[in-house]
Amino acid sequence: MEPTKFEELTPKVVLGVAAHPDDLDFGSSGTLAKFAAQGAEVHYLILTDGGKGSADRDAVPEELTKIRQAEQRAAVAAIGGTSAQFLNYPDGGLLVTLELKKEIVKVIRTLKPDVVITMDPSVLYSAQRGFINHPDHRAAGQATLDAVFPLARDHMSFPELYAAGYEPHKVATVLLTNFENQNYVIDITETLDKKLAALAAHASQVPDMKTTGGWIRQMSEMIGKTAGYKYAEGFMRIDVRG
Ligand SMILES: [Zn+2]
Repeated sequence: MEPTKFEELTPKVVLGVAAHPDDLDFGSSGTLAKFAAQGAEVHYLILTDGGKGSADRDAVPEELTKIRQAEQRAAVAAIGGTSAQFLNYPDGGLLVTLELKKEIVKVIRTLKPDVVITMDPSVLYSAQRGFINHPDHRAAGQATLDAVFPLARDHMSFPELYAAGYEPHKVATVLLTNFENQNYVIDITETLDKKLAALAAHASQVPDMKTTGGWIRQMSEMIGKTAGYKYAEGFMRIDVRG
């Protein structure tokens, strides 16, 4: 398959949607920092409360949620982002429901992003990497794609939102985080340090920043090599025509 040729992205408003605090920072914070540096508003929408992200037997979910939300806010600040919102669905139980889609549609119609970044819901597992994708990640990606198209675009979807003043909005481009299958590479050489700072903000999830920073650097180098950049992030990019 011929690699797809894309125009460079220069969004004004970017919305990242993910299941847990830290998901966006691992997958796409170099790109989000780059958009922010170009002058874009960058908003994070985190769907779950992140209350199960600990191996500590004494961890209290409500406390963990507070810690992780503070960490996420610090990470957003580190990349020069604009805001972080939390929907607080229970961690580990995220389902693709109409209710969830409606809440994402509400945010899309409010912020009116040109670019939406989320996780690729088609990633189920990688036998080669011994990896099963977290069900919350798949649900977050699926609900977000459904919200972008067609639900945010059509005034007849959730007419109660339209009646309440939420005008339909068409998202121009979706970037899906997918570590194996990518059609678009973004140069993050200038913003890798901000990405590392964002990840370091997630202290409850990243206890050893030296090791994590090492493999992030390595992975960014590997992706960069495919396009002649020092460091890069890769995505499946969809320019939505419908
Ligand atoms: Zn996650």
